[in-house]
Amino acid sequence: MCGIVGYVGKRDVLPVLLGGLSKLEYRGYDSAGVAYIADGAMQIVKCKGRLANLQEKLSGTVAENTIGIGHTRWATHGEPSDVNSHPHTNMAGDLAVVHNGIIENFAKLKQWLQGKGIHFVSETDTEVVAHLVNYYYEGDLKSAVMRAVKMLEGSYALGVMNINEPHRIVAARKDSPLVIGLGQGENLIASDFPALLEYTKDVYLLDDGEVAVITEDAVEIYDAYGNRAEKEKFTIDWDVTQAEKGGWEHFMIKEIHEQPRAMYDTLMTRMRGNRIDLSEINITEELIKGIRGIHIVACGSAYHAGIMGKYVIEQVARIPVNVDVASEFRYRMPSPLLSKDDLFIVISQSGETADTIAALREAQSKGAKVIAITNVKGSTISREADATMHTQAGMEIAVATSKGYLTQVLCLYMVAAELGRMRGTLDEAQYTAYVENLKKLPALLEQVLEGKEIVQQLASKRFMDVNEFFIGRGADHALMMEGSLKLKELSYIHSETYAAGELKHGPIALIEKNTLVMALATQTALLEKLVSNIKEVKARGAFVVAMTQQSNVAALEKDADLVLTLPDIDDLFAPILAAVPYQLYGYYTAVFKGCDVDKPRNLAKSVTVE
Ligand code: GLU
Repeated sequence: MCGIVGYVGKRDVLPVLLGGLSKLEYRGYDSAGVAYIADGAMQIVKCKGRLANLQEKLSGTVAENTIGIGHTRWATHGEPSDVNSHPHTNMAGDLAVVHNGIIENFAKLKQWLQGKGIHFVSETDTEVVAHLVNYYYEGDLKSAVMRAVKMLEGSYALGVMNINEPHRIVAARKDSPLVIGLGQGENLIASDFPALLEYTKDVYLLDDGEVAVITEDAVEIYDAYGNRAEKEKFTIDWDVTQAEKGGWEHFMIKEIHEQPRAMYDTLMTRMRGNRIDLSEINITEELIKGIRGIHIVACGSAYHAGIMGKYVIEQVARIPVNVDVASEFRYRMPSPLLSKDDLFIVISQSGETADTIAALREAQSKGAKVIAITNVKGSTISREADATMHTQAGMEIAVATSKGYLTQVLCLYMVAAELGRMRGTLDEAQYTAYVENLKKLPALLEQVLEGKEIVQQLASKRFMDVNEFFIGRGADHALMMEGSLKLKELSYIHSETYAAGELKHGPIALIEKNTLVMALATQTALLEKLVSNIKEVKARGAFVVAMTQQSNVAALEKDADLVLTLPDIDDLFAPILAAVPYQLYGYYTAVFKGCDVDKPRNLAKSVTVE
């Protein structure tokens, strides 16, 4: 959460900071601020609300200065307000700090600092960092930051400036992402790549415990003991155009439409003839034979992808799969149950999800081999996992995921195929057919996207709903968890997912006349059962919108009020196609309601706090 950007170079700093923050606004957007040096003083401009408010506040400000730090916030401590916005300063206002993360021992530190006569103005945890660095400042900002961070518990990415050293930014990180962009006669810091791409693709990835000193022509990195750390340059393989809307009204709809391409890339980078090549994750026949079970751990939509993975892996490879939410897994008492013979998979679009990182470390400490599925090369998860499968979704900017999620699902389908082949649960003919089905997906997804008008019409009729239900059986249930989440997070309509057979065990009490029930029915073997569930809710007045493949439509037409049609494909793969109409439904509903689609309220992408 939160976006940090910092610049030292020869350009006017304000456009660089504001431009960078606009590329990071998906990470947090309840307030924003900048610190820069002008007229021999530290200038702080910050305010509550979207970045646009800050831009307005700064409009007309010509500051011919070339160093500064900026922040867009996702509040954890203290409401979004002008005073709680970053940067925070020491009492004299000549030292400024931007921070991403949570200082868990801030209350104790605050009390200690207050005891020394230091006066606090905000409710944030971050303000202690500004006072603490100032407290230790004896003429060298790097040493002061190094002493201060030793006192901090919790997570932080920090950018710090001091008026006495007007040509340097000091940065530090622990459990929150921070990268350093390496330019020609200019250097930058940022929470994520998009803010840097306009200036450079070469970066240093700061590791936990490291502190960096950034000037316009040098970057020095130190480990926690103050020794110089040698870093390798990492080159970002994303393009600056990916961070642009390119004519689309929102990133969300652009990214929904990018799915056929993203799926093609994710699959085809791994196809060798008719074989899927997963040598990147070293799944060998020997390893597979010894596996007792699989654990998949993730958060949010990635967790939903994991549930989908459970259905497909159990069906195809006949290995039991346990899926857990990362924040639950890591705190299983007295400790998570894991055996060395289990395969452990973590999933995170950003590769920076705090709880998932913690789960990964927990699993490794128990001797498990961790495979990661992530979209971001160079991310913490991708660096710490024993092996990583990178989705080829490309940069995802909309806060609600679409292509990030679907490419994760595809990776799990590929893992299932390989496990099935190696364990002999998929014979050669079945394996070949499976791969052929995967190859059909990009074109079929294009076809599904062409049918978007009918979904738009449905959204135009239902956007005033207060409550909707999403039901399905088997893999359809897994997909509906994501379908329901899309509606909820984009349009703020309350929606619930239930396994279709579970509805009558309680939630059916909430069905009233005209309550919308979305029913996904791609699993032909379960079709009759699902039709019975549709009848049950119809009998209580529900308005049922079913979705199935072309060849199953007749079975649903009599009972559902509307049937949305998917192209025919083997049942195992049909839920993948079904993701798209539900994404579109969430999107159009939010647009009709006038919601901020790319930045839904209270949310942020890349959840870097626990
Ligand atoms: N904990 C800090 C705050 O509430 C930083 C939050 C963030 O990462 O945006 O201000």
